[in-house]
Amino acid sequence: MNEFQQLFDRQLATWELARSNYAALAQVKMKTFDVDGHTCKVQFNPARIVSSAAKVDAQSIRERACFLCAANRPAEQRGIPFNGRYEILVNPYPIFPRHLTVPAVEHTPQRCADRIEDMLDLAKLLDEYVIFYNGPKCGASAPDHFHFQAGSKGFLPVESDRTFPNTIRIESEYAQEVVAQFRQIYRSLPVPAGEAEPMLNILAWFERGKWTVCVFPRKKHRPACYFAEGEANLLISPASVDMGGVFITPLEKDFQKITAADIAAIWKEI
Ligand SMILES: [Zn+2]
Repeated sequence: MNEFQQLFDRQLATWELARSNYAALAQVKMKTFDVDGHTCKVQFNPARIVSSAAKVDAQSIRERACFLCAANRPAEQRGIPFNGRYEILVNPYPIFPRHLTVPAVEHTPQRCADRIEDMLDLAKLLDEYVIFYNGPKCGASAPDHFHFQAGSKGFLPVESDRTFPNTIRIESEYAQEVVAQFRQIYRSLPVPAGEAEPMLNILAWFERGKWTVCVFPRKKHRPACYFAEGEANLLISPASVDMGGVFITPLEKDFQKITAADIAAIWKEI
């Protein structure tokens, strides 16, 4: 058993919030759609309301205690150091059967430009996981504290679908080549006024000696349906997981009514 599996077992044995949320995850409802020839899943996950409805405007962020800073974490949470600059933690609000959060030790903003090498290192270390990055206006619920996340492999449709929509896919056995291609894409994307980086989500994993990195350029943080009143409302705040083919609906009404056409429309819009 590797040390990450041991971390899970220990945390689930001693931390009630994590234990109950992972137990609840085993019961969540999923459904599958065909979206223009691509498999896409929808997960009804009530515990994720904390992320989907997170207030990420500057004032709300200033006024809350940062939940990724070591001083403010739950007393039961334990971590494994990574690269001297990060900690690997169990995420107590899971989407994946195994879901980790990997915050920087330092309280520093969510920016990917100088972190892509670290992301590749992490993908190699956690080779049973897909690593992901949500930009500060692209699904990160702590835009003020840098963090990656990681979720069990074999869960996201994009992993096995090489023509998945909206995806720029980089594959190489050489880390330097992946980094060079990533930088080229990064530089080609517009940086919105007032923002520090292009809007994007990134997924990365390591398999049989080779990295795969999927970049999803974005133009919108949340789709119009997120803000709509009445029947048109869908509380969906897309991040890497949704871009990779698993839409998260924290509310059952949305899980019931969402259609393949809604998914296609949200992807197109954002
Ligand atoms: Zn922090």
